[in-house]
Amino acid sequence: FFIVLEGIDGVGKTTQAKILARKLRQQGREVVEVREPGGTQLGEAIRELLAREEELAPWAETCLFLASRAQLVEEVIKPALAQGKIVVGDRFSLSTLAYQGGARGLGVDRLAQLNSWVTGGLEPDLTLVIDLKVEEALARGKGDLREEIRQKLEIVRERYLSLAKERAGKVLVVSGQGSVEEVSGRIWTLVEEALAR
Ligand code: C5P
Ligand code: MG
Repeated sequence: FFIVLEGIDGVGKTTQAKILARKLRQQGREVVEVREPGGTQLGEAIRELLAREEELAPWAETCLFLASRAQLVEEVIKPALAQGKIVVGDRFSLSTLAYQGGARGLGVDRLAQLNSWVTGGLEPDLTLVIDLKVEEALARGKGDLREEIRQKLEIVRERYLSLAKERAGKVLVVSGQGSVEEVSGRIWTLVEEALAR
């Protein structure tokens, strides 16, 4: 079973992925945690490249994320799923559709096709979009408070919400408001339901 947490910067994906993994392990399940970009040697190197903050051409940026994902799927996710483990992901394909498709304007259809190629068609069983207003997300984190970043994240947030609507059932929106415990409680309810299906 493959669960992915998504959402704009600062909504608490990393924190919630750790809590979710811990709760699943407490139930005696074997869990593998992955993050994007990253999770493999290649992926972590790509993460460093992306963090350099030079202005990347939109398709160059996209290809780096896709390369990281392709490697992660082959090296980590597919083997773990084949062994019956639960994989908890901090970002996956939906990030590409929301950030590169939305903020960088590359269009969702082509990117969805590319996602499907690089993952060999592997899709999460459940994607949870943690949703929070941009101001609240930025206020929480190490977020960059520049106006252009705020505007970008507004687009990304709207894109996440519309993608969730189009993919109802497989992609669910969880409110990121309230305490860490409140949010993790909401996530847990949805994950338990999905696992029981
Ligand atoms: O969530 P995390 O902090 O790991 O994301 C790293 C950075 O990469 C974030 O600033 C996010 O905005 C960016 N990102 C992106 N496109 C993606 C995924 C992440 O621009 N597809
Ligand atoms: Mg994070």
